[in-house]
Amino acid sequence: MAAKIKRKDRVLVIAGDDRGAQGEVLRVLRKENRVVVAGVNIVKKHQRPRPTGRGQVGGIIEFEAPIHISNVMLICPKCNRPTRVGFVVEGGRKLRQCKKCQATFV
Ligand SMILES: [Zn+2]
Repeated sequence: MAAKIKRKDRVLVIAGDDRGAQGEVLRVLRKENRVVVAGVNIVKKHQRPRPTGRGQVGGIIEFEAPIHISNVMLICPKCNRPTRVGFVVEGGRKLRQCKKCQATFV
């Protein structure tokens, strides 16, 4: 199935603690149907310093944890509204389509 949500999309979070937040999609985990959204679902991890390897420092680090793709809605790049995504084939290419304004985009 083609991806409704892609990296660099703007999305609206519609469920969970961060409901109402918007952000850019940083990563898509296709196998798990999850996405990582900038500034959304921040979790803290207590990290031990590691003398070897990548020179990790200890302390509390914060990072975005993945959220399920069904908990976000694409914000249409054309009309700027949260929308469901459809697909249309144009000139042999499968494009995404905003269900609200019918605009198509990659
Ligand atoms: Zn639209």
